[in-house]
Amino acid sequence: MSSNRDLRKCQVKALKAHYRACQAIYKIWANSNYAHGGPKTPPFPDICRGMKCGAKTRSGHPCKNDGTSYSNGRCKFHGGASTGPVTKEGKNKSAANGFKRKARMPPANKSHVVTDKTRDNKAHAMLKNVDFE
Ligand SMILES: [Zn+2]
Repeated sequence: MSSNRDLRKCQVKALKAHYRACQAIYKIWANSNYAHGGPKTPPFPDICRGMKCGAKTRSGHPCKNDGTSYSNGRCKFHGGASTGPVTKEGKNKSAANGFKRKARMPPANKSHVVTDKTRDNKAHAMLKNVDFE
């Protein structure tokens, strides 16, 4: 049982290292303005081939989904919630999210708002059209 767990640890470690290496290469590629041909990533680690998610499901059996979708070795159902922005740049972006739209919006158009004055004017106009006999 412990060898199984050790294998899993090795697989997750290799997967994380692989994804980290790929991410660094993709970053360089993005800085080169996405040069034609695409980046050359390192080969997928053999130890991670056929990896299963293995999370305990509600039925009690281990999850059989592909566990290579996320760097933590879990499937899309068991990868866990997002931990939010990690880098300083991302944190600043998310902090500005609530304020951005207000700044960009045009001044509010309040023609649809009915004030006492507009209501009175409308009432007078309607009364003018009515013929009292
Ligand atoms: Zn799963």
